[in-house]
Amino acid sequence: MAGAERLAWEPRLHAASAHALYLHIPFCKRKCAYCDFPSWATPARDASLRAYARSLGRLVAQAADDGLLEGCETAYIGGGTPTYLGEGLASLVGRVREAASDVAELTCEANPDSLTDALLSGLVAAGATRVSIGVQSLSDAELAELGRVHDAACARERVAAAVASGLDVSCDLMCAIPRQTDTTWADTLAGALGLGVGHLSVYPLAIEEGTPLARSVGDDDPAWNASDVQADRMEQACAAIEAHGLARYEVASYALPGKRCRHNIAYWTGVPYLGLGTGAAGMLAAEGYARLRAACPRLPEPPRDMARARLTMEGMPAEVGAARSLADLAFSCEFLTAREAAAEDLMLGARLTCGLDPGLVAHAREAIGADAVDGTLASLVRDGYLDDALAPTQRGWLLGNELYGRLWDLASRA
Ligand code: SF4
Repeated sequence: MAGAERLAWEPRLHAASAHALYLHIPFCKRKCAYCDFPSWATPARDASLRAYARSLGRLVAQAADDGLLEGCETAYIGGGTPTYLGEGLASLVGRVREAASDVAELTCEANPDSLTDALLSGLVAAGATRVSIGVQSLSDAELAELGRVHDAACARERVAAAVASGLDVSCDLMCAIPRQTDTTWADTLAGALGLGVGHLSVYPLAIEEGTPLARSVGDDDPAWNASDVQADRMEQACAAIEAHGLARYEVASYALPGKRCRHNIAYWTGVPYLGLGTGAAGMLAAEGYARLRAACPRLPEPPRDMARARLTMEGMPAEVGAARSLADLAFSCEFLTAREAAAEDLMLGARLTCGLDPGLVAHAREAIGADAVDGTLASLVRDGYLDDALAPTQRGWLLGNELYGRLWDLASRA
């Protein structure tokens, strides 16, 4: 199961800036039946879309002026539906490029129906390097059940156009969904692979409380979403995708050589990142938090033993659109000690096929205590969640919550 290329944990424990940037676009044409992400159905011509995108551009420029993006290597514009901004998305990509000249990978999330030829050209010209397209399924019946805006023909055509544009292309696909069978899932996988994408992300559908899908399901435990169906479909996906030459490098992510998503890898390897936009998450080391706090006086003073801040940007889209500077922003904050941050990095690192980086394990032994770390890792190997290289086994993939929970327990165990 271990991948050949190691994805090193990065000991950026004292970074004074964010080395990755996430921008959240909280607008969609309409809400999908299963969606609980921070996004709102908004008319495309609504002035709030443009105001929001312009505001994000200003905030990114200020973050760069304040030194918060020094050494920033990746950027990801996600949503929501970033491509729903139309040419405003290409303008925003241009603002990121101006502000963060070290960015080597710049991804835009896209939905097929709004990824026009003109926008693809605009994204290439503005400096995007990658699009991640929310395909989910290539069955019209399944897409209708999910409430997606596009149909399968649109998805095929737009993914092919994206591949032809020269951008790196990833597709998101979803399993354990209504009406899906082993055969339709195999067709979706083969269809996406046949379009020449270099990266695929594959997820089981989560039925989230409060969504139209959850209401329609009620108290039932639908057979199409049962845990064994999820496990079977994820295994089916792994076999089909790896037979096509893409290698799994994370629990849900597969790539051709050189096409892994550097930005997502940053999340799993301890790289600090700044998140801007309604509901955007960020993670900063203590020094980076101090720098952000200098620009955002509303941020609370951290506890003295804080090693890491986890931030979620607050404010509805209209408030973000009206922000003149970082000083106008509000964040909810969670502060982690060095011990908690080390446990969190172990938990995130256990998502990767290459196994836990020896540098991370050595750091965790110092921050948490060698006996506790060695004991937990030994028990996870003994119980079949990790192999001898500390990479997740098939059992570890399928019972990820148990694996991650036992690693997170190291944050508090004496
Ligand atoms: S396109 Fe994505 S963010 Fe928008 S409603 Fe559908 S699932 Fe949610």
